[in-house]
Amino acid sequence: MIHEILPVGMLQCNCSIFGDESTREAIVIDPGDEIESILEILARNGLSVEAIVITHAHIDHIGGAQKLKRATGAPVYMNAADEELRGQLDVQAAWLGVASPEAAEIDASLKDGDVLAIGAAQMHVLHTPGHTQGSICLWMPSENKLIAGDTLFRDSIGRTDLPGGDSRQILRSIHEKLLPLPAETLVFPGHGDSTTVGREKRFNPFLRH
Ligand SMILES: [Zn+2]
Repeated sequence: MIHEILPVGMLQCNCSIFGDESTREAIVIDPGDEIESILEILARNGLSVEAIVITHAHIDHIGGAQKLKRATGAPVYMNAADEELRGQLDVQAAWLGVASPEAAEIDASLKDGDVLAIGAAQMHVLHTPGHTQGSICLWMPSENKLIAGDTLFRDSIGRTDLPGGDSRQILRSIHEKLLPLPAETLVFPGHGDSTTVGREKRFNPFLRH
């Protein structure tokens, strides 16, 4: 499986591009910005985008989705509980002092337990509300990888002081959905360095009881 990670935009959101080597199908997760660079990676690897997945509707994760959708024709998936946030991209843009991007049209909602296929691999949707109500993580057991959005970070967890955030709920999501995954699972947060489930279980100061 091809996996390229590109930090995009002012907030350096980690955009993940997964590509199957035999079918050349790709899934792009969180194309927040810098769509030209994402398209360049896709072209360099001879990949065609089958799905665009949004871990949550914060502007740094969803900002480029409509542009990528228009360039590739791929459907955009997101959990429906972030609809309200998606409708407030202009407000979010004002917080950051940037121009508001065009809001992405969502083709289907991703729910807990949904599975996306990429070649022979599967991507499982885990609904992990707390950072936002519609936050999801994506677990690929065959690759031993978790795309964690802004729910779990190396030595930290997602902030819960923005609209839709809930500090108890994010801890419940992490404890119930993420920490039970195999300890060696590689975790790719929405920002910053990668880690493993086992490392965060042991050392993350926000997850100590
Ligand atoms: Zn966020």
